[in-house]
Amino acid sequence: KNVLLLGSGAREHALAEKLTRDGATVHVLPGNASIPNSQLGFNPLDFEAVRAYAQAQDSTLIVVGPEAPLAAGIADFFAGSDIRVFGPTRSAARLESSKVWSKEFMRRHGVATAQAWPFRSDNIAAARAKAAELGGHVVVKYDGLAAGKGVYVCSSPAEAEAAFDDLQASYSGWFSFLLEEKLTGPEISIIGLTDGITIRLLATSQDHKQLLAGDQGPNTGGMGAYCPVPFADDNVLAAVRRDIVDPTLRGLQREQFAFRGFLYFGIMLTPSGPKLLEYNVRLGDPEAEVLLPALDSSLLTLIEATLDGSLAQQGVRQRPGAFVGVVLASGGYPAPTFPTGFPISGLDHLPADVRAYHGATRRNDAGQLVTNGGRVLVLTAHGRDLEEATARAYDACARVTFEGAYFRPDIAQRPAPVLTA
Ligand code: ATP
Repeated sequence: KNVLLLGSGAREHALAEKLTRDGATVHVLPGNASIPNSQLGFNPLDFEAVRAYAQAQDSTLIVVGPEAPLAAGIADFFAGSDIRVFGPTRSAARLESSKVWSKEFMRRHGVATAQAWPFRSDNIAAARAKAAELGGHVVVKYDGLAAGKGVYVCSSPAEAEAAFDDLQASYSGWFSFLLEEKLTGPEISIIGLTDGITIRLLATSQDHKQLLAGDQGPNTGGMGAYCPVPFADDNVLAAVRRDIVDPTLRGLQREQFAFRGFLYFGIMLTPSGPKLLEYNVRLGDPEAEVLLPALDSSLLTLIEATLDGSLAQQGVRQRPGAFVGVVLASGGYPAPTFPTGFPISGLDHLPADVRAYHGATRRNDAGQLVTNGGRVLVLTAHGRDLEEATARAYDACARVTFEGAYFRPDIAQRPAPVLTA
């Protein structure tokens, strides 16, 4: 089975590895220097070129890693052809690509979520007034895709004012944004494969978005993840199903979205029950780098069943134990610029059960493997429990080095929360 995989990061490395283990031959557009069969330089938004490549490889299945090709309509482009795309149409991808539209969808279908008020850029004054009324305990969200940078979580009127100022300075022209009530509680990620009717959930996981230990410092693309989440027990999952997942599936059906792909629920467990913060229409990164090694079932089979409409006949088996993935980042990340091109050493000396997923590496002219971006590697380890997996992941981090390498020292070590509902 020939599969075309779109994307270039550590998530795509994990996807390529898993699909290969499942028996597929995987070609990656563009991939990176360390993912086998990468086509470096390929533009995955050039759908005509993707089609030509698929035909040349005799590939009839495209799996999409990142959101951009989905938001640009790759599923629509191939609709009705003999090439199938695992990922939603452009219209359904609005669940992620428009926060205002997504919030309206949640409301229409009774999905538990934070209260929110949509505004337009010509009416920021009204948003400022509303934020003041809420004492500054608000979250301001730019409507479109902003790679995690369009969200401002505020705890005071001054912070809210600063958020509006920054929003105004960062985005020009006409735009929409949301003002949300600020919720509190631990966050979990729940990701499933869905054909719009049935959903098969992978393990629960937790990301660590902030750069520094103790969830301090600027937001990043994610500094590490683990699964499964011990406090996401059957009670929590039942509430998530009832209040978030099931209403979402009913909404997809009512609005006749033929959604076939990964659906990601970013959830906060608040004192008044689980609330949905956001949907993503793809696998999370770095969640994928722990969820895929944890998945015992064939992902290829699950994907094909989703596209065939036979997902209901498939079960999902997880490997026992826990998985922890720690991101090795370049010094200076997530600032807009920082030095790269540093040789990476130690990857040959990793224990056999540690996986090194490459997010941003390349070969230099001398053929050396060097850093090539912010999130360079994700080192994922398995253990009988979280403690063992964590110890093994950090042991691996100590062996791999490059100039300026940084990793968060506390992935998977948040104190267990007290859940009140
Ligand atoms: P991602 O990088 O996950 O795609 P995003 O930019 O799409 O992020 P959200 O996931 O909506 O944005 O928000 C980012 C983070 O902001 C959340 O993970 C959460 O920590 C915080 N957040 C979002 N909404 C709220 C809320 N209503 N109350 C409290 N915190 C929130």
